[in-house]
Amino acid sequence: MTAIDTLAVHAGRTGLTEQGVHAVPIDLSTTAPLPSVHDGGLAYEQMATGGVPLDGQSTVYQRLWNPTVARFEDGVAALEGAAQAVGFASGMAAFSAVLLAAQSEGKTHVVAVRPLYGGTDHVLASGLLGNQVTFVKADGVRDALRPDTGLVVVETPANPSLDLVDLNRLVADAADVPVLVDNTFATPILQQPLKHGVAMVLHSATKFLGGHGDAMGGVVATSAEWATRLRRVRAVTGGILTPWPAYLLHRGLATLPIRVRAQQDHAHKIAAALASHELVAKVYYPGLPECDPLHLVGTQMSGPGSLISFDLESAEHAERIPGAVRLITHAVSLGGIDTLIQHPAGLTHRPVAPEAKPQARMLRLSIGLEDPADIIDDLVQALESTR
Ligand SMILES: *Cc1c(COP(=O)(O)O)cnc(C)c1O
Repeated sequence: MTAIDTLAVHAGRTGLTEQGVHAVPIDLSTTAPLPSVHDGGLAYEQMATGGVPLDGQSTVYQRLWNPTVARFEDGVAALEGAAQAVGFASGMAAFSAVLLAAQSEGKTHVVAVRPLYGGTDHVLASGLLGNQVTFVKADGVRDALRPDTGLVVVETPANPSLDLVDLNRLVADAADVPVLVDNTFATPILQQPLKHGVAMVLHSATKFLGGHGDAMGGVVATSAEWATRLRRVRAVTGGILTPWPAYLLHRGLATLPIRVRAQQDHAHKIAAALASHELVAKVYYPGLPECDPLHLVGTQMSGPGSLISFDLESAEHAERIPGAVRLITHAVSLGGIDTLIQHPAGLTHRPVAPEAKPQARMLRLSIGLEDPADIIDDLVQALESTR
């Protein structure tokens, strides 16, 4: 089996030599020439129902298929060990498609393990897409299942508390209900949820996969059967990934392993510095033993990643710090090459119900590729200048 670092560089690049090119071509065509009404019509029907074009067949229309997007999808499928992957305009477009696909047989109830990304929590709680939801803790899945439950949703590490969920146990508890794991924080470099029997793995590709904060996208890695259902939803609802961001996201995959490992290495040092600082009340980082009671780092995850949350003594102190950092950027999002800080209760988790909202004294860091000593210096000056 090919190593993941090799797959990251080469997956999705088949046929380039035959085309006489080395970089992946960006195909911007919104429409494709049709050989005849009959054959064009067959290709249209095949893709509009979620199929993929056969060799040499017309791809008809960009909302149905695009070769640059397909290369990114092949890359993600290879890294996650999935049969296929389906790209979307954003992580939320990907999640919406999963919700619609899971509900298509009348199974409109979702069991969702909190905490979740604020947008995911919001769309589930609002019922905007026609679902009902029961929010549970990781050990409450079995009791929450109903005959009309069509999906179990979980995030590990979770946003923003960095709680880890035991996927083997969760899959057993979910019985025959398909499980979706949001793997945005771990990436396939640190965790491959399909190995634990889950049905679908979702990424906000906007984060680590792209890795440079300049391309939006979402992707679901899964079986051929689920991928067909998702492509059908994508074809009719139109939340497609387009060729420019697909090119950038695919390019990002090549450096994903080295970025993830370097950022994690930095995060270890920064988490330790925060944990020993007198103005920090608590650090949430799965690399700290007290944050991994189930010992999932080293088993389910090969490492703790590069997201760190921490509590101050007061909400007032927490709210002053993002305005006082100099090197770090005060901004939402994560997984890029530079370090970001944000206030989950005020920003990313703003729409979450009060009982599930993160505490107002918590901040979240996404650690980048800068020298960790410079990031520690910046955090220390920000902590002390705002005390
Ligand atoms: C950002 C994020 C999303 C949403 O993705 P978008 O690309 O912003 O739509 C979903 N899940 C997690 C864990 C995220 O961090």
